[in-house]
Amino acid sequence: MAGVIRNANQMVEAGLIPAERAAALAAVAARYAVSITPDIAALIDSGDAQDPIARQFVPDAQELLTAPDERGDPIGDHTHEPVKGIVHRYPDRVLLKPVHVCPVYCRFCFRREDVGPGGAALDAAELAAALDYIRSNSNIWEVILSGGDPLMLSARRLKAIMSALDSMPHVAVIRIHTRVPVAAPGKLTPALVKALRAEKAVYVVLHANHPRELTAAVKAAAGRLSRAGIPLLSQSVLLKGVNDDSATLEALFRALVAMRVKPYYLHHPDLAHGTAHLRLGLGAGQALMKTLRGRVSGLCQPSYVLDLPGGHGKVPVGPCYARPDEASETECWRIEDPNGATHDYPPKSDV
Ligand code: SF4
Repeated sequence: MAGVIRNANQMVEAGLIPAERAAALAAVAARYAVSITPDIAALIDSGDAQDPIARQFVPDAQELLTAPDERGDPIGDHTHEPVKGIVHRYPDRVLLKPVHVCPVYCRFCFRREDVGPGGAALDAAELAAALDYIRSNSNIWEVILSGGDPLMLSARRLKAIMSALDSMPHVAVIRIHTRVPVAAPGKLTPALVKALRAEKAVYVVLHANHPRELTAAVKAAAGRLSRAGIPLLSQSVLLKGVNDDSATLEALFRALVAMRVKPYYLHHPDLAHGTAHLRLGLGAGQALMKTLRGRVSGLCQPSYVLDLPGGHGKVPVGPCYARPDEASETECWRIEDPNGATHDYPPKSDV
């Protein structure tokens, strides 16, 4: 992609960082890949040291600090990898990772040890073996194209994968996880959109974390997918200094729904190396979700989830509104309403 910023000198030239930070950030860029597309660079307010877009994409010297609980494979992908490019964590679905490059490299990425320009994409034989694995496992109902970013593939290569999956009778759903509509919306050409069309149900899950990312060009790209009949969902990562306040989350989720994108997941940040400065506690995340419950409709509420370290799977970790009434001898419940008041709910009664 033309005009993409990939190193500290280019960040200085683009005015994203002052020259005196270049040496420190060159060391970070040598450890973790950097890519900032022109669309994203245009959103960065370089006069704001705490700019929420810069925090996501401009490296920070703190990335070279590793906190005790951080891991190279924070969600345990590698413990569920029967063949290269496949993660088979749950019986009915797999991740297929055909490519390890992304349009941008997010500073909080959970696969930051695997993605980047040096990361190997599947070659033809490896891709064939990964597709054979899916073909020969008839319990696989859903295939999630992830990576890296699958929309970095050419329309021709993407179409070949979609056609192969489309031909497998047991595969009912193909889900695409992507940052392209937000980071490089112009890449979502009519040819690429056409390549996504299939007989099977296709869902696109776009990754957006801040309402400022949802520009007119991004809305137009999402519109191209919607008009092609592809349902859109979103995933966001809850990040310190980016979107860890209820007004930002409310604006993000309202804007997504208004552009026909259903907020699907709000991820608690994973324990990836060098990301402690972008993480917050689970309690803070739950408090934010509680605030949203009273402010926006269910359509605007994603599921707040945590991928358990070690590969044990993803679980909802949002606030709990229903608790058994410990003082009651019957099975009464205490239920909290969106304003924080609690109410009794009776046990099940027989007629
Ligand atoms: S787009 Fe996804 S896989 Fe790529 S760097 Fe960002 S979080 Fe990681």
